Amino acid sequence: MEILYKSTRSDSQPVTASQAILKGLADDGGLFVPMQIPALDVSLEQLATMSYQQVAYEVMKLYLTDFTKEELEACITKAYDSKFDTEAIAPLTEAGDAYYLELYHGATIAFKDMALSILPHLLTTSAKKNHVHNEIVILTATSGDTGKAALAGFADVEGTRIVVFYPKNGVSPIQEKQMVTQKGKNTHVVGIHGNFDDAQTGVKNIFGDSAFAKELDAAGFQFSSANSINIGRLVPQIVYYVYSYATLLGQERIKNGEKINVVVPTGNFGNILAAYYAKNMGVPINKLICASNDNKVLFDFFSTGKYDRNREFILTSSPSMDILISSNLERLIYRICGDDAQKNAALMNALKEKGEYEITPEMREKLTDFVGGYASEEECFAMIKALYDEFGYVIDTHTAVAAAAYKKYRKETDDQTKTIIASTASPYKFTRSVMKAIDSKYDSMEDFALVDELSKISNTSVPKAIEEIRTAPVLHDTICEKDEMKEVVKKFLGI
Ligand SMILES: *Cc1c(COP(=O)(O)O)cnc(C)c1O
Repeated sequence: MEILYKSTRSDSQPVTASQAILKGLADDGGLFVPMQIPALDVSLEQLATMSYQQVAYEVMKLYLTDFTKEELEACITKAYDSKFDTEAIAPLTEAGDAYYLELYHGATIAFKDMALSILPHLLTTSAKKNHVHNEIVILTATSGDTGKAALAGFADVEGTRIVVFYPKNGVSPIQEKQMVTQKGKNTHVVGIHGNFDDAQTGVKNIFGDSAFAKELDAAGFQFSSANSINIGRLVPQIVYYVYSYATLLGQERIKNGEKINVVVPTGNFGNILAAYYAKNMGVPINKLICASNDNKVLFDFFSTGKYDRNREFILTSSPSMDILISSNLERLIYRICGDDAQKNAALMNALKEKGEYEITPEMREKLTDFVGGYASEEECFAMIKALYDEFGYVIDTHTAVAAAAYKKYRKETDDQTKTIIASTASPYKFTRSVMKAIDSKYDSMEDFALVDELSKISNTSVPKAIEEIRTAPVLHDTICEKDEMKEVVKKFLGI
């Protein structure tokens, strides 16, 4: 069955998967969505016997229907290889009353690697299939983790260039160091004076600038996006929810058909949306628990039906979730308003103009799969400490938001359903906050001494991604204002 993609904002002509991947965002500013969500066509028992790469193929072939078997398998093989430090690619660890789905075993030790290690291959394959001869310019706004994962994925990939914008004072020291030390002739990293939403809005504006697109085309370039709005990121993320259910089944920790809950520390709503797609494909998932940090727009949305970004932007110790506009929520809104592009466009316009919108009671009724949760900084630190003290297991600050929100959910509901928590970053990426949570005595130690200490107390080895930046030279030092982003791009491309 061929799956085509249409925009969430108008009834324009549907496009193929490869065209949607190439474009990133639809011309009308909407997001591409599959016209239907396909059902798995192999059983969960069969999936339980497969490798991550095989499961990836079984899931992705259902969405990327204009890719040949050879093309898709080649992309998967190149992506999920020894860049990951475990053959399982996405292993599960049991600690306390949950299974932690560790999505941080790739090149940049955050879950963004799960999709960004394959996106460059999907994109260059899509370009070939559509006879694109322009060089592809990836423009990305990052709240910290996407940037490095995209840079690592695209560095020196022929026919591509990549420009990453990050909030100069809004990422962790290790995140920044990882980005500004990036090698590769085709990479460019820029700090902006502003927060993540400013960076994301700036990138969206450049994408929407059709005069600029013409100018680029004349110079032999065209834009695409590595942000989580690209369906080339969403689809690979569905894989690990299918895989983790199959893993639990294979290990006889659940019975076939037994429902599980999934908790996801959420920012842009991409990761949890992938879990929702997995559920709709036939994976037995009960509740999708959407965990926010102090920027709890989504918690408020699920509790009231009103999305309201008019509030203070709070910098937390889980910076990759410091987001007030969760872009991928639009795909869910579109679905719950009955795939009505006009209705969705009106809500998104209200969000743009007034910073808020409210969904109807009928739409709210379609959100029963979701539970909103959140955790404060204190709750998140206490969770890190408790898990370490009791089980010797160390989680990062983002995962801790999910774990703490889940703890509250379980207390309130007494829901005993077996639960998977998406563990989205290695604790080594947020060493300072993590170690401080475990013991205040670590406060005075310098960054890399803390890394060695973490290795000792958790009995894990320091990931390659951290070893590499210890001594790496800074290669990028461009800083700009948020209204200068377009000029910076032009300069980098030499136009
Ligand atoms: C990006 C990110 C998140 C948020 O994921 P979304 O898909 O944007 O909701 C959570 N944790 C970490 C570590 C991340 O890098």
